Amino acid sequence: MIPFNLPLHVKKELDYIQLAIKNRKLSGDGEFTKHAQKWLEDNFKTRKALLTTSCTHALEMAAILLDIKEGDEVIMPSYTFVSTANAFVLRGAKIVFVDIRPDTMNIDETKIEEAITSKTRVIVPVHYAGIACEMDTIMALAKKYNLFVVEDAAQGVMSKYKGKSLGTIGHLGTYSFHETKNYTCGEGGALLINDERYLESAEVIREKGTNRSRFFRGQVDKYSWVDIGSSYLLSELNAAMLLAQLEESHEVNEYRLKLWEKYLQQLEPFGLECPHVPSNCQHNGHLFYVKTKDLTERTELVDHLKSFGFRAVFHYIPLHTSEAGKKYTTFSGKDVYTTRESERLLRLPLYYSLKEESVEQICNVIKDFYKGRCIS
Ligand SMILES: *Cc1c(COP(=O)(O)O)cnc(C)c1O
Repeated sequence: MIPFNLPLHVKKELDYIQLAIKNRKLSGDGEFTKHAQKWLEDNFKTRKALLTTSCTHALEMAAILLDIKEGDEVIMPSYTFVSTANAFVLRGAKIVFVDIRPDTMNIDETKIEEAITSKTRVIVPVHYAGIACEMDTIMALAKKYNLFVVEDAAQGVMSKYKGKSLGTIGHLGTYSFHETKNYTCGEGGALLINDERYLESAEVIREKGTNRSRFFRGQVDKYSWVDIGSSYLLSELNAAMLLAQLEESHEVNEYRLKLWEKYLQQLEPFGLECPHVPSNCQHNGHLFYVKTKDLTERTELVDHLKSFGFRAVFHYIPLHTSEAGKKYTTFSGKDVYTTRESERLLRLPLYYSLKEESVEQICNVIKDFYKGRCIS
């Protein structure tokens, strides 16, 4: 059986974790956290990276930092993970969804302006599959209407838009190091602070609402409760694992892209709809998908692949159609593509330990499935 995903594992992880244990420093903000944060700052060019317990928590921190309140509106695509919305709903915001573009599955930047009202505070572009949203347009809208941009770059570690790393373009950006992502420490994330103004309050929110970080730098002589906050620090054991993975990320990225290209070379000329990468984006091979004619055909293809030992899986069920979505969200304009395209999308196995031959086999099984069928 070839699973859909296997978490990344690199050699140095165990050495680093052992070292963290020997250092007698297991809670957050030790040497490994500092190194991993510096690695992110140096490689991706952000003012400050803070490791968090998850991308979900980094998004929650962003909502607290931007002082999101009851009645505020936040614009995002409905085709995303629940946390993108939940983080803002937890602060009392109303989520306003905008349709996606069928070519990238990202928010349709041309439909955002119609969704902006006097209550709008934030736009949250989600870089699906590690392929960038049209950030120039989004940043220009934010400027015009005085809005914040929080990039959900959970899937975008190592990806770029016009030479800039995803997560570093908006005011704030978030990464995920969950085991389903390109680099992992089990559960983990990062908040990227690209706007100087949020530096100090971000440290406070992440440290249970205390000025503990300032205390450790010797800037205050005792630490105390200064604002609301929570426990968003990643443990040193996780940071140790993460640093080992980040140090090998260029190699990993190259191989993921190789597998991604192999899928594309086999399946696109065959006539299947595959992911589109706009020319100004450099992606990270986070995921490869094909689009089937419809939901029925997708279910049949899943079963066909499964009978040959390959796991393929669909992705998000649009949030506006969910139970909570009905309570906390509205859809601006028409859902032309969100539901339709989400029902056609099927993700294929792609991970560092996957062999090139397996990709070949998967493609052959897909081609076999379409024998005698017409491709939409
Ligand atoms: C994975 C993911 C998240 C959540 O990440 P966690 O680290 O599991 O909290 C949020 N948004 C998107 C788009 C994701 O893919």
